[in-house]
Amino acid sequence: MTADPLAPYAPRPTAGIAAATTELSKVYGSGDTQVVALDRVSIGFREGEFTAIMGPSGCGKSTLMHCAAGLDAPSSGSVRIGTTELSTLGDRQLTQLRRDRIGFIFQAFNLLPTLTALENITLPLTIAGRRPDREWLERVVAMVGLSERLGHRPAQLSGGQQQRVAVARALASRPAIVFGDEPTGNLDSRAGSEVLGFLRASVRDLGQTVVMVTHDPVAAAYADRVVFLADGRIVDETREPTADSVLDRMKRLDPRAR
Ligand code: ADP
Ligand code: MG
Repeated sequence: MTADPLAPYAPRPTAGIAAATTELSKVYGSGDTQVVALDRVSIGFREGEFTAIMGPSGCGKSTLMHCAAGLDAPSSGSVRIGTTELSTLGDRQLTQLRRDRIGFIFQAFNLLPTLTALENITLPLTIAGRRPDREWLERVVAMVGLSERLGHRPAQLSGGQQQRVAVARALASRPAIVFGDEPTGNLDSRAGSEVLGFLRASVRDLGQTVVMVTHDPVAAAYADRVVFLADGRIVDETREPTADSVLDRMKRLDPRAR
């Protein structure tokens, strides 16, 4: 078992850490029906790094992502984005931080059907009253290969293309960190590998920080670092993963997968 090498840095603001949790716990319900979804998770995400959070269904991956991204409040422990401690923020400030500094990609593409691809991509900026950085937007749109389809509506795009719109939307504000929850879960393997390639490229070429939750070893292999979660705890981590090395660890962590 490997300890998180960033854990010692988690309690205080540290340069180069895009987001961190310290002793983060999340408990749902109470009494007999109580579920400890996260049990004192301390983890840091380095800037410019692609991290995959792996683990069997129900191990707490989505809960970790939701708490780390300020979409859900911890039961105890703390979360920070950059040097901002989320518990110090009021509702409006938290909404603003999520909008300005965090990008989200979900399994469902969550595009608005009446808007064009470009309008969907810039919608979060429009809502924030911010003008898009043209040069950045062009780079992002070119990277995901949508330059020719910006006027299309979601119904005119394939699933893979729709998720590319969602990737571009997540990157459009140049967020401090992008969180993806099973972003390839609704895609066939070819469209999925394209989207993973774009996430990889956003880290390599644009210096983005990406954290992706997945239960797919092939998807996790696109990351620089894979963190393994089981029963709400971090149980292992590895760097420079391959699909085989990830699968191998999963089998050891989850006897049901054998
Ligand atoms: P994963 O994303 O790894 O599949 P989740 O984070 O969704 O796991 O869930 C972790 C645990 O918390 C599971 O046991 C799940 O049933 C439970 N859980 C998640 N959300 C809720 C909720 N809103 N209310 C009650 N239990 C929940
Ligand atoms: Mg989940």
